[in-house]
Amino acid sequence: MRFEDFDLQPEILRALNDLGYEEPTPIQQGTMDALLRDKDMVGQAQTGSGKTAAFMLPILDRIDPESKDLQALVLCPTRELALQVAEASRSFSKYLEGVSVVPVYGGAPIVEQITALNRGGQIVVGTPGRVLDLLRRGKMILADCRMVVLDEADEMLSMGFIDDVRDIMKRTPWGKQTALFSATMPDPIKKLAEEELHSPEYVKIASKEITVDTVTQRIAYAEGRDKLELLERFIDEMKPPTTIIFARTKIGTQKLADDLKRRGHKVRALHGDMGQGARDSVMIAFRGKRIPILVATDVASRGLDVSHVTHVVNYDLPDEPEVYVHRIGRTGRVGREGFAISFVSNKEKPKLEAIEKLLKREIQRWGIDTPLPKLSPEEIALAEEIEAAEESGDAEEAIVDNPEAVAESSEQGSSEPRAEGDEPRKRRRRRGGRGRGKGNGGEASGENVPEPVSAD
Ligand code: AMP
Repeated sequence: MRFEDFDLQPEILRALNDLGYEEPTPIQQGTMDALLRDKDMVGQAQTGSGKTAAFMLPILDRIDPESKDLQALVLCPTRELALQVAEASRSFSKYLEGVSVVPVYGGAPIVEQITALNRGGQIVVGTPGRVLDLLRRGKMILADCRMVVLDEADEMLSMGFIDDVRDIMKRTPWGKQTALFSATMPDPIKKLAEEELHSPEYVKIASKEITVDTVTQRIAYAEGRDKLELLERFIDEMKPPTTIIFARTKIGTQKLADDLKRRGHKVRALHGDMGQGARDSVMIAFRGKRIPILVATDVASRGLDVSHVTHVVNYDLPDEPEVYVHRIGRTGRVGREGFAISFVSNKEKPKLEAIEKLLKREIQRWGIDTPLPKLSPEEIALAEEIEAAEESGDAEEAIVDNPEAVAESSEQGSSEPRAEGDEPRKRRRRRGGRGRGKGNGGEASGENVPEPVSAD
């Protein structure tokens, strides 16, 4: 199957060609046709599967450039993801004249975002809190919005945004198209899909298709503080050029980063207790190949799309096996080989079993028979590049060293709520429209959140 088969506008095909996209990924193959036919859609897929293009290409294809009204809204859990999605859509739409994308998110001045909205953006990509704030202030009008995407819906749930999402959905016009993408499908997300989507088509991309082929995986058993010793041994033996170490809680993440720092490792933390400014600078430095080791929580690292991550360490195993797949998917990106190692305590053994069941394979133990792989010449070159950047002091400059000192800005600005009309206006469609009704509302169910994050 080729992108040409979807009958996309030639300007979009040209941009895809520039990006070097040769053929659609499985999630793109599975969802784009239905989306282009105005169907509602549930796509179960992870970051790294190509899901951004899966929903953004059909959106871009159907935007009316003559109208400056907001026509498509994409909700994302984090500012980082919102920026990444906006950036991707700009690269897909660079030859489309008169189409603009506006990212809106918390932790940044709302005034500039209002100015951007006033200039007219047909596509808005935003985090729920900020979108709701703008709607309440009457600065964002959804009356002409006919495409809505809920991206990484499970993350929006775990970050506590589900009520905001429902509130926003209530303000969108009747008859719109809705697509929901989620790596996992916990019950509250299933319920959300049932209530907000109209006879959706379902596409699930099996997790193993994404990662297993390109990532060598190992486990090692260790309890409590022994994990720290094991981690040091791993770093010393492997000398990984770029590593993300995942820990389960924000406190655990900071503590692990502090411990490693005390032991002389060049490491930075990334978690939701840090201010947005501090998170941004860590991300910029990591993306810019100036930090070799990042200790992160799952949520904070969402949207951190870095193709040069060579190694992933699961210091703690995640509760959901799908999250494991998502974590290790950070390495072995688009054609590269990756390596992931997981430290497993006795208590975590059931989690390991669930992961192996999902992967349909046993993960080998790091041991004499299965030593660590040697670094490739490219990895050695990368390690040298990062080391040079560190020595030049670039990393220090780029990073706010005391994250706690940077205040977290709230998304929920005080604003005068202003109700927005729900009624659909005249709609402009390049393809056939459809009329349909659906119920709104419903109570959001609570869920256990292992890592409560106030991010965004
Ligand atoms: P996503 O899951 O949307 O974050 O995409 C993951 C990565 O895959 C991004 O770097 C995309 O640019 C890349 N990508 C998405 N679709 C394709 C494709 N059809 N061919 C090659 N690369 C792709």
